[in-house]
Amino acid sequence: MRYIARSMSASQRERHVVVGRVQGVGFRPFVYRLAREHALSGYVLNAPEGVVIEVQGPPERLARFATDLIDTLPPLAMIVEHSCESVPFCPDDDGGEFAIRKSTAGVGHHVLVSPDMATCPDCLADMADPANRRHRYPFTNCTNCGPRYTITQSLPYDRHATSMACFPLCEACRAEYEDPLDRRFHAQPNACPVCGPRLWLTDRHGKTLAEGAKAMARAAKALRGGKILALKGLGGFHLAADAANHAAVAELRRRKKRPAKPLAVMTADLEMLSRLAHVSPDEAALLTGRERPIVLVTMKPGTGLSPDISPDTDQLGAMLPYTPLHHVLLAALREAQPDGEDALAALVMTSGNLSSEPISLGNREALSRLGSLADFFLLHDRAAWCACCTRKAARRDSSSCAGPGGSRLPPYFCRPKVPAFLESARNSRTRCASPRVTKPS
Ligand SMILES: [Zn+2]
Ligand SMILES: [Zn+2]
Repeated sequence: MRYIARSMSASQRERHVVVGRVQGVGFRPFVYRLAREHALSGYVLNAPEGVVIEVQGPPERLARFATDLIDTLPPLAMIVEHSCESVPFCPDDDGGEFAIRKSTAGVGHHVLVSPDMATCPDCLADMADPANRRHRYPFTNCTNCGPRYTITQSLPYDRHATSMACFPLCEACRAEYEDPLDRRFHAQPNACPVCGPRLWLTDRHGKTLAEGAKAMARAAKALRGGKILALKGLGGFHLAADAANHAAVAELRRRKKRPAKPLAVMTADLEMLSRLAHVSPDEAALLTGRERPIVLVTMKPGTGLSPDISPDTDQLGAMLPYTPLHHVLLAALREAQPDGEDALAALVMTSGNLSSEPISLGNREALSRLGSLADFFLLHDRAAWCACCTRKAARRDSSSCAGPGGSRLPPYFCRPKVPAFLESARNSRTRCASPRVTKPS
């Protein structure tokens, strides 16, 4: 009894408040692991003012925790402000567990929400493995990648505050979500073919033609046949055409009333792009970075790419897939050609809007507005939130893409990006707090 009393008096309790990009980047799981590593009790939670952490234990362990909290951040996390203060010792908590508590809502200050992030190598490996339950699943993600901003409806960032709220986790996904050692621990957009968003293909009248993997295969076949596909992405629609099909590219130009401006091209991977263009190490680094910008590269002659993509110039606006859906579609495109692996897998991708209209968002809205532009629609049931911000961002950001060496790209080579700065507003709805956008690094 005396020993317990001495032990309790040796322990102290501290409260950290961390502000910055600390929601949606695996920060709470990181804090959880760190606290357990240092054998501290307490909790972590998302609050409107940031992430609140209370830890209790001997002072030397508290000090090591505080150091590691700053020095060993997860790759996508960024701390803007950090405060630490002593708070009253909590006898019931001493020697207990450390927990991730339910988020608290309310009026608060700025928090940074992570932008959507390109699919990570681990998720790509999951999707490529025929034995994996996420084989070719176009909504695969984890703590290190996937949608954030475009699915977030309100803050704090939790699943119920995202457009994933209507997809209850299946048993297998819940086990990952609750396992501190899993890279999907508390990954809010976590999903699989059993419980997550679904994909389907329709004609231009909205009639469903195929679902899931069959929809993807049929869409790829249609593209190879010269058809134009409207593709629902993260925050809006793209129109896609086979970049090797001259007639398809010419038809896309005619329908979009865009006779001459260069079109951007997405290739399956860097290797495929290198077949089409000269790619310097700097350009390769930009193309494969987390932001996945469109980068100007110099085309090689005689590659089979439609000459209508960049008439009058040898410059090509190139980008690599940044969502799992892009990866799966380009893999299907490769397979839809008899020569398989050797086939050119490149898509012309242009925003699904007429002239200066904002990017379409909802499925129904897209069908009615893009019906004259696309032959087929690849749709899914995961909504994109914060439409006003996305639209504003699309316009505002139309000249802010960087080329190699910091050069500017022409506006027509830019794809919309989203602001990274959100404010937890009085009514708890997200809105843009400042015009900050994520720039390619
Ligand atoms: Zn991932
Ligand atoms: Zn699942």
